[in-house]
Amino acid sequence: MKPLITLKGVNKHYGDYHALRDIDLEIGEGEFFSLLGPSGCGKTTLLRTIAGFEDVSSGLVAIGDKDMAGVAAHLRPTNMVFQSYAIFPHLSVAENVAFGLRKRSDLDKAAKRKLVEEALEMVGLGGFGKRAAHALSGGQRQRVALARALILKPKVLLLDEPLSALDKKMREQMQVELMRLQRHVGITFILVTHDQEEALVMSDRIAVMFEGEIGQLADSETLYKRPRNRKVADFIGKMNFLSADVQASGAQIDLTVAGLGDVRIAAEQSPEPVNVGPAVVGIRPEMLSILFTGETTTKSVIDGVVDEVVYYGDMTYYDVRVPGVEKPLNIAMKNVIGRPVLEVGARTRVVWDARSLVLLN
Ligand code: ATP
Repeated sequence: MKPLITLKGVNKHYGDYHALRDIDLEIGEGEFFSLLGPSGCGKTTLLRTIAGFEDVSSGLVAIGDKDMAGVAAHLRPTNMVFQSYAIFPHLSVAENVAFGLRKRSDLDKAAKRKLVEEALEMVGLGGFGKRAAHALSGGQRQRVALARALILKPKVLLLDEPLSALDKKMREQMQVELMRLQRHVGITFILVTHDQEEALVMSDRIAVMFEGEIGQLADSETLYKRPRNRKVADFIGKMNFLSADVQASGAQIDLTVAGLGDVRIAAEQSPEPVNVGPAVVGIRPEMLSILFTGETTTKSVIDGVVDEVVYYGDMTYYDVRVPGVEKPLNIAMKNVIGRPVLEVGARTRVVWDARSLVLLN
């Protein structure tokens, strides 16, 4: 990865409030990078310091090899797309997109028209130029905003919760489209979102932020499978937490896990250095399963009683009470033909696999 954006020791104070704490970060050329975290963790502030809308209190922000200190937002090779798309309803689609070129006095009318057409084509709105902006759907408006931001060919596109105003279906469709668009134009996208699924779907890498700090920086799969700690694990999807006691660690880790008994796991199942003694083990709901009557398995099984059933159509989520474990285990089961939905109070068996455990600090 060739770094395009470098942040070194970046701090941001608002009066007494420490909004960014010693952020070190490199974002690559052509990377789809996401800043993910709960409300107030500082992700928008971080994006705005890259955009130049916000000065840093200390530290370095560089784009390319250039220190951005004192460089105004409109002179940086960045462009921003906001949550509220800021489309002018009284203008046509083409006029809205051409607004992105308003400062380019070097271009004549024909050159501008060509760029507008190219940008609209790029976001799947070819032929929409003459339409009135107010007559567009939410998804189409967002595409107009994207076209307007991309027409200046920035090196970096900054996206602040760009999809949050869309309904679920449109949001999912736009996630895939944004991802395709980023690959097509090949420039760096930095997305701010509090939606973990959105980040996992689109990003090459994700920085998970808490209270002004980066809790973990990794690709989607690593974040999901090997969260560094309980906080990250809890924020990225659902996770069952079991208390454990580590006896020995080396190439393999030996531990006793509440409800599961003695377990041996591989060293890479602990993202952080291991300490002998009390620990917590995590396991995702879909890594557990229910052994239905008539089914067999060669894997490990524990007995339990169904405590709660939540039916989602494609999936059923069960809470199953298991001896030795404080909270019922949450289990996600795909609903397939011939598989009944169990009722609360039913006795059942839970299948687990030591390979899907993660040891958390
Ligand atoms: P959200 O998803 O809710 O937008 P966020 O992670 O983007 O959250 P920020 O907007 O970066 O969070 O804000 C981080 C913290 O800094 C918040 O506690 C916020 O109240 C504070 N903050 C942001 N801007 C200012 C400001 N101009 N003056 C004072 N405090 C601010």
